[in-house]
Amino acid sequence: MRRIYMDANATTPLLPEVFDAMRPFWIEQFGNASSIHQQGQHARAAVENAREQVAALLRCRATEIVFTSGGTESDNLALFGVLQPYLASQGASKEPAHLITSAIEHHAVLHAAEALRDRGIEVTFLPCTPSGLIEPAALEAAMRPHTKLVSIMLANNETGVLQPISELAAIARAHGALFHTDAVQAAGKLPLDLSKTGPLAPVDLLSISGHKMYAPQGTGILFSRRNVRLSPLFFGGSHERQRRPGTENVAGIVALGKAAELAQQWLAGSSPADLAALRDRLEQGLLAAIEEAGVNSIELPRVANTTNLYFDHVEAEALVIALDLKGLSVSGGSACQSGATEPSHVLTAMGLSPARARASIRLSLSRLTTAEDVDFALATIPAAVGRLRTLSPPWQKAVPALA
Ligand code: PLP
Repeated sequence: MRRIYMDANATTPLLPEVFDAMRPFWIEQFGNASSIHQQGQHARAAVENAREQVAALLRCRATEIVFTSGGTESDNLALFGVLQPYLASQGASKEPAHLITSAIEHHAVLHAAEALRDRGIEVTFLPCTPSGLIEPAALEAAMRPHTKLVSIMLANNETGVLQPISELAAIARAHGALFHTDAVQAAGKLPLDLSKTGPLAPVDLLSISGHKMYAPQGTGILFSRRNVRLSPLFFGGSHERQRRPGTENVAGIVALGKAAELAQQWLAGSSPADLAALRDRLEQGLLAAIEEAGVNSIELPRVANTTNLYFDHVEAEALVIALDLKGLSVSGGSACQSGATEPSHVLTAMGLSPARARASIRLSLSRLTTAEDVDFALATIPAAVGRLRTLSPPWQKAVPALA
């Protein structure tokens, strides 16, 4: 059966060029980058070359790149790395510290913020507007003299909404606080310029995950600006300039470097606009074919590959399964936690009713998505929605002619 993948925000395929670049570092070139013999030097050179490739993508210094095990670790390193010195267990006389984040962050940030709150840090979770925006005025109003860190994501993983990061980061900086952004769903999809004169100049910390940009799962990056003092999460050797001890994942790091280089090439051409056009055709086609449907956050700037649609009177979970059986991989707008299907915290924070949040699915295209893939989705989704609605009592009541 033909299988079409439209879940790139969950994970992207490993690009063959990336695999080819990393492969030798598992087999012939297996050295430890800390060893002084030739195999070690070879591994060290490969790690430092990858650091340069990532720095070129982000327009920052190579020394500002910390390699991690993924987006979750990068987010935790940013939050705990900045706030660790203020934890209550470090001594009762420590000065108070305040963290501001938002209600629509990925759980890697949300749960880290909750853990910090449990350890005595004051935490504010900013609400978003009904379309999913974190308003700069809301951040300005929440800033306190003891706010040490603000963490707001760049692109939302469910809706694709892009936050006004330059403006938000400038507010944090004006108040003397550091600013972190989770750029896991933005890296490789849009230009990220962290140079002194670039739009992200006031950003101090930025997280990236390898497996959302065509490198393997279990690889990640934290950008940490030169002046930031970061306490490590782990204790051990002095790797990554004392910021992240542990023998480097040389093959994974080489893959990140190659993925960064490929991302830079991809961003320089017409591909991002082509991908946005594919996504827009998909959205418009589905809205034209399916009644009582809509796109969540359509009114805001969004990352080009993502659309989050609701089809009222359809359970997203049932639709995801029905589409899977037809050969189309997509994701539900709801997260399955401890066996119970909860409506998505992002859509709920936007004020969607639980029913509409449960009727929402996410389609996320990749660089490998083709026009034929979109045609397949346009043929498959309306039929599946129609079939599920005939089984839905609320739909039968709303549209008696179909009952
Ligand atoms: N942040 C965002 C916005 C994400 O979408 C994800 C993964 O879905 C993560 C963080 C976590 O990244 P990782 O899977 O590499 O730990």
